[in-house]
Amino acid sequence: MKIAIVGGGPAGLYLGYLLKRGHSRHSVDIFEQNPQGNTWGFGVVFSDRALDFLNLDDPETYQRLIPKMEHWVDLKLDLLGEQIILDGIGFASIGRLQLLEILSERLTSVGVTPEFSTPLKDLSCFHDYDLVVGADGLNSVVRQQPGFHSETRLLSNFFAWYGTKKPFDTLTQSFRNSPWGPFNAHHYRYSKEMSTFIIETNLETWERSGFSKITDQERIKACETIFADVLEGEPLVQNRSTWRQFPVIQCENWFHENMVLIGDALHTAHFSIGSGTRLALEDSLALSKAIRFHGTDLQSALKTFEKERKPVLSKLVDASLQSAKWYENFGEHMNLPPWEFAESYLARAGRIDEERMKTISPKFMAGLLQYRKNISI
Ligand SMILES: Cc1cc2nc3c(=O)[nH]c(=O)nc-3n(C[C@H](O)[C@H](O)[C@H](O)COP(=O)(O)OP(=O)(O)OC[C@H]3O[C@@H](n4cnc5c(N)ncnc54)[C@H](O)[C@@H]3O)c2cc1C
Repeated sequence: MKIAIVGGGPAGLYLGYLLKRGHSRHSVDIFEQNPQGNTWGFGVVFSDRALDFLNLDDPETYQRLIPKMEHWVDLKLDLLGEQIILDGIGFASIGRLQLLEILSERLTSVGVTPEFSTPLKDLSCFHDYDLVVGADGLNSVVRQQPGFHSETRLLSNFFAWYGTKKPFDTLTQSFRNSPWGPFNAHHYRYSKEMSTFIIETNLETWERSGFSKITDQERIKACETIFADVLEGEPLVQNRSTWRQFPVIQCENWFHENMVLIGDALHTAHFSIGSGTRLALEDSLALSKAIRFHGTDLQSALKTFEKERKPVLSKLVDASLQSAKWYENFGEHMNLPPWEFAESYLARAGRIDEERMKTISPKFMAGLLQYRKNISI
């Protein structure tokens, strides 16, 4: 088969590798708008077991990633300087650029080199391809073709993805007040020298802050002041760090004729549950398996991909939307006492199973039960 992949992000690069590895007679072309070694954002995080699927299906790629990742075992909530540790909630992280480099190496090992600096405006050049895959992210040109019936809605909070050279010891959620209202930062190191620092605020605070009318540098200065005690003098750095609202993308149809969508082009999962990249990689695996199973019967392969992936995905996307909803109201939650704040944070994507939590997070649960005992006296 002759296959075109639009987009050389995690989904596109990994799919290219898997297709070629599984069937060397496929011809695979990848078109990426950016030059090689150039991307947006900083590090991405995966929950402890989020990459288990990769270890099962593709241990070689898993083994390449693991040594490049930062790992930690606790999550920290910092509410106005009061810190609560959620022990045993482990995560691992990697720079987005480093992840893309590793996936590019895997791709080169099977003989495919993406065509970089090739932005596609439409799909007119693809008439002789058997399959066109839209792995082109949020503003997908493939998704704009008729037949997918997609819907995009914006969440109300505003956020920006910054970085900083301060390497934080663990994934931390810091909540601070500003003269305009509450701000939150999700921050964690993704290498020995760098951390991700995503800052978020609600719509009312965004409007009061006047952030939309000032320059990037002025916004950075204001954020450095709000999070001065967290950053301890280390400046924020930007990499296409635009302030925006998170788009929730959903598609009724995952494929149409000989076109199919994967990754962020198909669906988004709010970054507060750190799953978008993992979902993108899982989509690539599921699509490559369906193609391998059905051979040249492309329509059956695409149907299988959609049928098997849709239920898994909708569960995770629902959890991510629940979590995003908690963030839409984080200013109100900040009025809770720290232990109750932590409890509501934990329950943001669904009810907590306290018995299970006692095994996962024994110290946190002991602290919470003690707090409940104290306030009931
Ligand atoms: C603030 C923030 C924090 C995040 N943190 C995490 C996290 O901690 N963990 C996690 O798992 N996920 C995280 N994500 C989500 C993650 O970044 C995405 O889900 C993931 O990048 C999706 O991969 P993708 O390959 O589908 O799309 P992308 O990474 O968007 O890749 C799409 C590629 O297509 C290219 N492209 C687009 N249009 C064209 C065109 N017309 N022609 C050619 N090329 C084109 C783009 O340049 C890009 O390289 C975060 C997202 C945000 C916004």
